[in-house]
Amino acid sequence: MTNDKQKTGMVSLIGKTNVGKSTLLNQLIEQKISITSRKPQTTRLRLLGIKTKQNNQIIYVDTPGFHKGHNRKLNKFMNKVALSSINGTDIILFVVDPLNFSETDKELLNQISSDDNEVILVINKIDKVDKKDRLIPFVEEISKLFAFNEVIPVSALKNRNIGLLEGEIIKRLPFGKHLYPEDQIADASQRYLTSEIIREKCISRVGDEVPYRLTVMIEGFKETKSLITIDAIIYVEKKSQKGIVIGDQGKLLKSIGMASRKDLEKLLEAKVMLNIWVKVKKDWTNDQRTMSSMGYKNV
Ligand code: GDP
Ligand code: MG
Repeated sequence: MTNDKQKTGMVSLIGKTNVGKSTLLNQLIEQKISITSRKPQTTRLRLLGIKTKQNNQIIYVDTPGFHKGHNRKLNKFMNKVALSSINGTDIILFVVDPLNFSETDKELLNQISSDDNEVILVINKIDKVDKKDRLIPFVEEISKLFAFNEVIPVSALKNRNIGLLEGEIIKRLPFGKHLYPEDQIADASQRYLTSEIIREKCISRVGDEVPYRLTVMIEGFKETKSLITIDAIIYVEKKSQKGIVIGDQGKLLKSIGMASRKDLEKLLEAKVMLNIWVKVKKDWTNDQRTMSSMGYKNV
């Protein structure tokens, strides 16, 4: 299936333990859950499931590195690392239990940024709130702490407002080709995340000068004991755009490479050697080889 209307995005769930993230996720992906080979020890962003609905593909991720506990300093650091990757996803679902809102929620909220993603506040367990008018002051209070793009009360357990929440997610998905076949998951999560990191660094530097979606392909991904060597290609459609991405004396590309490598080393927990090329290619989507290198199979 190829068309211009496809939307694909990464959605991460954040919230302290017990607010109902797992329950919510199960409702959101229904029976369609497809779990990839999980490598929690090698990636910080873990692919939880993918839901494809017509033109929309939602990729749910979470952070296994999310901790709460005795060693506050270490945990703070771990959470910071985890959150820095999550802040690069398209949409964050910040999940809270309104009857159990505490400093821990606030601390988490403090670490989220709405600069490069949309943040939806999901107020879960509304089935337990007997007086619904109690929700209003709660929403008012929490809205003072953060400018959420949307606030949605749900009950994950009783399946209330889950469709509404999904609608809000779909509304916010960026246009982009689906990364996975509808009913199959390619084992491409690491490559996908790698390309997303590089793409994000490009976009944050190039800004509006290149008004189209950059495409990053991972051509090589070689793991040895001490080093991961990654070959990436940034595809642009015109020669002038290539110049913009490379920058004056290659400065911009160098900065993209350095920032990407830094994030990748955190994400993959290994030393990374990153080679990036910028190429001009019209119609890159028709190139079977680049597509399969990204994990498109059987398309
Ligand atoms: P997580 O730690 O954030 O992943 O939370 P879980 O999904 O494991 O849920 C923690 C507990 O809250 C479980 O006992 C769930 O059954 C319960 N729970 C989750 N969602 C709801 C809800 O909408 N209403 C009620 N009453 N309980 C819920
Ligand atoms: Mg859970």
